[in-house]
Amino acid sequence: MTIASDSSAATTPTPTAPDPIDIAALRERYRIERDKRLREDGNEQYVEVQGDFSHYAEDPYVAPGFTRAPLADEVEVVVIGGGFGGLLAGARLREAGVQSLRMIEAAGDFGGTWYWNRYPGAACDIEAYVYLPLLEELGVMPTRRFATGAEILAHAQAVGRHFDLYRDACFQTRVSGLDWDEADARWVIRTHRGDRMRARFVIMSNGPLNRPKLPGIPGITHFKGHTFHTSRWDYAYTGGGPEGGLDRLHDKRVAVIGTGATAVQCLPHLAASAKQVVVFQRTPSSIDLRNDRPTDPEWAASLKPGWQRERIENFAIILSGGMVAVDMVRDGWTEAARNFRAIAMSDRSVLASPESIAAAMELSDARKMTQVRARVDEVVQDPGTAESLKPWYRQFCKRPCFHDDYLQAFNRPNVKLVDTQGQGVERFTESAVVFGGVAHEVDAVIFATGFEVGTGYTRRSGYDLVGRGGVTLSDKWRDGMRTVHGMLSNGFPNLIIFGTPQSGQTANFVHALDEQGRHAAYLITQAQQRGVRTLEPTLEEEAAWVKTIIESTRRNEAFLASCTPGYYNNEGKPGARGVQNSPYGLGAMAFFKLLATWRDSDRFSGLQLTFEE
Ligand code: NDP
Repeated sequence: MTIASDSSAATTPTPTAPDPIDIAALRERYRIERDKRLREDGNEQYVEVQGDFSHYAEDPYVAPGFTRAPLADEVEVVVIGGGFGGLLAGARLREAGVQSLRMIEAAGDFGGTWYWNRYPGAACDIEAYVYLPLLEELGVMPTRRFATGAEILAHAQAVGRHFDLYRDACFQTRVSGLDWDEADARWVIRTHRGDRMRARFVIMSNGPLNRPKLPGIPGITHFKGHTFHTSRWDYAYTGGGPEGGLDRLHDKRVAVIGTGATAVQCLPHLAASAKQVVVFQRTPSSIDLRNDRPTDPEWAASLKPGWQRERIENFAIILSGGMVAVDMVRDGWTEAARNFRAIAMSDRSVLASPESIAAAMELSDARKMTQVRARVDEVVQDPGTAESLKPWYRQFCKRPCFHDDYLQAFNRPNVKLVDTQGQGVERFTESAVVFGGVAHEVDAVIFATGFEVGTGYTRRSGYDLVGRGGVTLSDKWRDGMRTVHGMLSNGFPNLIIFGTPQSGQTANFVHALDEQGRHAAYLITQAQQRGVRTLEPTLEEEAAWVKTIIESTRRNEAFLASCTPGYYNNEGKPGARGVQNSPYGLGAMAFFKLLATWRDSDRFSGLQLTFEE
């Protein structure tokens, strides 16, 4: 339950007259739309970007030919991944005085998802004042409320410089495997550059959306035109840059496959530059207003030390369903909470039981989505196109989008929407994308089809780990992850994992990474101070945490099952493994508190330890 108890008005007016929304009819419509999209193959509908498809994952931002001598040295901590997770781990470790630290990153620089995703219009629709980490530490303020991808990438690199993380960093280096050396209590890190580095601790922050995926559409390899994935935007082909101006597309017909958050951001730029754009939609996104604006210098000057953590936590509390005095961010993400509160304030009986709370949340959601659908009618001129662009599911079934130019793009004469009615593209020919028996001739196909989420952890990481006794992580987690706090796993000593499964999930993903960074720095520095040689969770503690995850997730099971397929509900197949790999079901803030309480107890409880002689 979410109540943001600021006294200012909710964005959606709360009518006192009987609600005109027929919830039963809406549920039925949602069910029909979901059922159209359910498919047996779930995650298997997508193909991995390897083999014939490996060029979709190549790094377009580095000069070819980089080489270096293999490394066989030793450091105290290796951090795998140079996105915000790795950077926050590095920052918190440096703050705690750890000097012997190496960052390993497949890309040519820090930045993670913002390194890869440089498509035109890339920006973050989580407010920059809560999304960009370490603003006070670096003494910087974002230029806008919603920062562009370029500004975020520059910030990531500034974090790297500020905390001296470029020292010893290995870029353009893909880890190929980790082996636990029991005799020495060290991890041996193998890479595609022939390295065999050693480290006492390894932090893996591989990212949740690091591996582009393609739909396994028949004929995908037959298409002879130009193709690329949005996370490897080919500016050599399109011209222009992240700000748009894609001048080389002026005589090109372009197909866009997918209408998720990425397509929403890049379509307006494609529409402005290409001769023709054909958008192939399987499920429409919900598009709400974004309301970007430059940072107000007076407001920035008025902030007191500690402001960022307070704002980040305020945002997370609201998103986790907690009570706050003031909704500091007041954006589209927190609006759901404001709307629920408005209902609860007008009728206190809705708080009487879990059922009445759930009903009020459903009503609040229905009002919001009715508003989102009405906005499509207001903006999109062609009634048929408008109808197709309306999302028929609850707002948080899929990632909500916030954009002020996406829907408008469909009013341009050069933009055409192909509504595949939940089925997706039928097939490719050498020169066309086919749906409903119609071949749409195009020069280029841009895959805005997202990233692997529900596939196995080691497949997404691109490497496996061999822990104590020769057990691999993929074997240990075959039927689902087994961890404590999503971060530690028995049989894999001195290994710390960052991510969402079995851990805390919030829309402000960087916040979760910062909490994990603080936890990792605590574990490592305390281990050093206490003379701990190895740490890992006991099997009992691990079993207890897995049980906690499963039980807490069951609370959301009915909601997820009612949703249209997507990566939030494991492509419509939650299943036992999906439930086990879920985030902590009581919300991110409860999870962060749980971690902090564990640290405050200062007892390393639930861990099995060995000590230096
Ligand atoms: P998504 O996974 O959200 O979207 C993929 C799209 O491809 C969906 O519309 C999907 O349809 C469609 N698709 C898949 N297969 C087919 C097919 N066979 N035929 C037609 N369409 C198909 O990927 P995105 O890259 O858009 O976004 C990934 C995530 O990245 C977001 O959810 C968000 O977390 C993050 N992001 C964040 C941003 C921010 O502002 N912070 C901006 C951009 C991305 P369907 O829905 O039916 O599966």
